[in-house]
Amino acid sequence: MAERTATGEQVRVTANFLWMCQGYYRHSEGYTPEWDGMAEFKGRIVHPQTWPDDLDCSGKKVVVIGSGATAATLVPSLAPGCAHVTVLQRSPTYFIPGRNKIEIADTLRELGVSEEWIHEIVRRKILFDQATFTRRSMSEPEVVKQELLAGVRAHLGPDYNLDPHFMPSYRPWRQRIAFVPDGDLFKGIASGKASVVTDEIERFTETGIKLQSGDTLEADIVVTATGFNLNVLGDIAFSIDGQPLNFADTVTYRGMMFTGVPNMAWVFGYFRASWTLRADLVADFVCRLLTHMKQHGHRSVVPALRPEDAGMELLPWIDPENFNPGYLMRGMHLLPKRGTKPEWQHSQDYWTEKDELPKIDLDDPAFVYAR
Ligand SMILES: Cc1cc2nc3c(=O)[nH]c(=O)nc-3n(C[C@H](O)[C@H](O)[C@H](O)COP(=O)(O)OP(=O)(O)OC[C@H]3O[C@@H](n4cnc5c(N)ncnc54)[C@H](O)[C@@H]3O)c2cc1C
Repeated sequence: MAERTATGEQVRVTANFLWMCQGYYRHSEGYTPEWDGMAEFKGRIVHPQTWPDDLDCSGKKVVVIGSGATAATLVPSLAPGCAHVTVLQRSPTYFIPGRNKIEIADTLRELGVSEEWIHEIVRRKILFDQATFTRRSMSEPEVVKQELLAGVRAHLGPDYNLDPHFMPSYRPWRQRIAFVPDGDLFKGIASGKASVVTDEIERFTETGIKLQSGDTLEADIVVTATGFNLNVLGDIAFSIDGQPLNFADTVTYRGMMFTGVPNMAWVFGYFRASWTLRADLVADFVCRLLTHMKQHGHRSVVPALRPEDAGMELLPWIDPENFNPGYLMRGMHLLPKRGTKPEWQHSQDYWTEKDELPKIDLDDPAFVYAR
């Protein structure tokens, strides 16, 4: 059942196959933690996901809570207009400052190479560079860490002490790394228009935020760049033959389908590579599956653990040792389980999946078909 938002009318939509492309976070509202005293604060508290059109930051003291990609994007555009912007972070983030252009594309254009070729070459180069960076983050994390810190130091100057504000405690790539185009975030900090505070919030006051260190931050506007709410399959209350479905009880077939859930595929992309790389792979798989079903007269397909999977250890959707940002940790208990074999995992590895997914044997007993 769906509802027409304009009229409230209830609509029943029927389909033979459900291809879930609803993303992985709640679009209606972002994640805002509850802090003591928020109601007492006389200024405005704003989440970037529901940015009010009438918000005027000019001449205001702004505190941005969080230092992820959202904060890194917001601060450079807020800093010139407001009185001061303070980034209040609980823990530091890795950043990659870089030129906001793709040099190889410009060179190829100068050489008169066609746009189709440029697109393909640039795509391959980005993929290659990302894969190398990801591999090195695992194999030589300390070297990569020092490289990232050197990139920040180059913008903030040798006298700026990177510890604690830019010195994360985890190895690179365990959480997303924010690209800072042309170092714009650091320009505001170097100019004094923006600053960073690493501390924890004790409570909001009427005029700002009291920190656990005992310091206070005065603020007219607080922006909670604290992330989003992960949601599983669009927060839709699924049921199968009248029985409510809890996705956390299912096991995922390669992060695309789920045991016991017939005729449904979910697009869940990569955390460390472009989301759409996997959207493409899943799309090819779904088309192949639908063609296979049509050719063989199957009306339904449902993934099921095979006899050889009996007793397989079931684990959370992703290994927190591998990747552990707050939104995943907050929502992991809602996500389907993964097994220990490649078929029953979303590996988050484009480089193996680009070869493996097109070769999936659709007659494998993991797919149970019915006419
Ligand atoms: C802050 C942030 C930064 C990101 N940066 C990058 C990046 O740089 N590169 C990258 O590749 N990826 C990035 N991603 C991942 C990003 O989610 C994907 O790239 C891309 O937006 C996913 O596309 P999608 O179509 O799968 O889902 P979405 O873009 O999330 O679209 C889902 C659609 O489904 C609708 N929907 C959801 N639930 C329901 C429901 N129950 N009923 C009806 N409609 C529903 C939504 O309203 C929305 O229109 C980022 C994500 C976030 C949150």
